Amino acid sequence: MKQIKKARVVIGGILHETNTFAHAKTGYRDFMKGRALGMAEGVEMLKEFRNANIGVGGFIREAERSGLEPIPLIWAFAQPGGTVRHQAYARLRDRFLTGLKEALPVDGVFLELHGAMVTDRCQDVEGDFLRHIRKMVGKHIPIIAVLDLHANITPLMAKEADILIGYDTYPHVDIGARGEEAGRLMALMIRKKIRPVSAFRQLHLLIAPPRQCTLIPPMRDIFRMVHEMEKRPKVLSITFSGGFPFADIGDAGASIVVTTDNDVQLAETIAHELAVEIWKRRKEFNVVLTPVKDAIACALKTRKGPVVLADGSDNPGGGAPCDGTVMLKALVEANVPSAVVAVIADPEAVAAAGRSGAGKTATIRVGGKTDRLHGKPLTLTGLVRWVGNKSYFNKGPMMTGMRVDMGRAAVFVVNNVEIILCENRFQPFDAEAIRCFGIEPRKRLIVGLKSAVHYRSCYQTMAKKIFELDTPGIHTPDLTQYRYRNLRRPIYPLDAMKNHHPWVHRASTPAFAD
Ligand SMILES: [Zn+2]
Repeated sequence: MKQIKKARVVIGGILHETNTFAHAKTGYRDFMKGRALGMAEGVEMLKEFRNANIGVGGFIREAERSGLEPIPLIWAFAQPGGTVRHQAYARLRDRFLTGLKEALPVDGVFLELHGAMVTDRCQDVEGDFLRHIRKMVGKHIPIIAVLDLHANITPLMAKEADILIGYDTYPHVDIGARGEEAGRLMALMIRKKIRPVSAFRQLHLLIAPPRQCTLIPPMRDIFRMVHEMEKRPKVLSITFSGGFPFADIGDAGASIVVTTDNDVQLAETIAHELAVEIWKRRKEFNVVLTPVKDAIACALKTRKGPVVLADGSDNPGGGAPCDGTVMLKALVEANVPSAVVAVIADPEAVAAAGRSGAGKTATIRVGGKTDRLHGKPLTLTGLVRWVGNKSYFNKGPMMTGMRVDMGRAAVFVVNNVEIILCENRFQPFDAEAIRCFGIEPRKRLIVGLKSAVHYRSCYQTMAKKIFELDTPGIHTPDLTQYRYRNLRRPIYPLDAMKNHHPWVHRASTPAFAD
């Protein structure tokens, strides 16, 4: 086989899932180090992410196998939250573009993006980012991006990237694998073994996060179908994105991207088949929620733990404050024999626990400080069992190996409820968020989690029962609760959809002439 010189591929990412209904804005410092996942630059990226189950990690591993040379620029992640200040995004984008300019000429660009980022000046941030990169590298250099399953894929994104690869799982346990897939396709593209063309469909369909879970129908079945379709000859990659309904933009919602090796007709046919199937099953995406009291009563009756209560409406992984008190109040009042709540992000409460000190009884005002949508602050008296700085590494199947920095944290015990208080807002999907305090979730009757679906990566098999709670908040799956201003209408399930076609057929990329 002919030896080809090492192709140079620039890698990086800017990741944010923007909940435009959240009050607090997301600024530059939210992307920086010390903020849960944070930021890494240059060679530091190779060192930190080579073994991590994330997009750039997978890409780096595959690049090294395929003889590509990854050129790391910048990777910045902020916890899902409110609208991003445009300046913050522009600063990150321009740092990436400066690095890219210095690295030119390059053979390819790999990006890890979320796909649902919104700034106060731009509704299609990833489209903007891709457009800038395309302008700089020209139309013949491959650009491949990995996207979250909750990406709101826009026509501009589909146009500017050669290949978009969405996660196939929620909980997202395949992020690294999608990065590896991107690496394989990048090597084939650079060596001119494939010529990707894509078909894009935007469905007029909003899906609430709990029903985007791929462990249960209908998503489980749809992804089985996707994987069967991916086995057909000439199919390179199929993405079904569930979308992020809490970003109020025109392009929010479900979409499909099918990429084939220079066969537009095949891409169009598959995109159509998939759209028909998803639309047929749209009613199955409706969510059934349980009142907190009913869930607790059920746990107390069976006495078999752990019973997981998922407070998805206050899921920081979808931009919610993570200091909501509705679930916590019910647990404290129910006199349960054992329960743990992870986590309440409340720097003031952590500071109060610190002032009192470990081993002391304290009265602390807990939670409810970000807004009035997730329950009022609770004044609780209990034991401060532990207080200090805390970080841990994910050990479960999702984002395995990534370090999570909780900032200062405390374990505050009230009426047999162990409340994990922390400074940083983050989604406690990995059981390490609890175990790192010496608490074993298997030994608790009730585990209350600020998470909509990702907790299932660790708790699906561990839990005796799981309840998706009917609590208020800016991540509630009841989509009728939101006041949309920018979303395209009509859209299911908000509108009747009579006399409207269920999707927009967006022009596919043209086949290569020669
Ligand atoms: Zn996601």
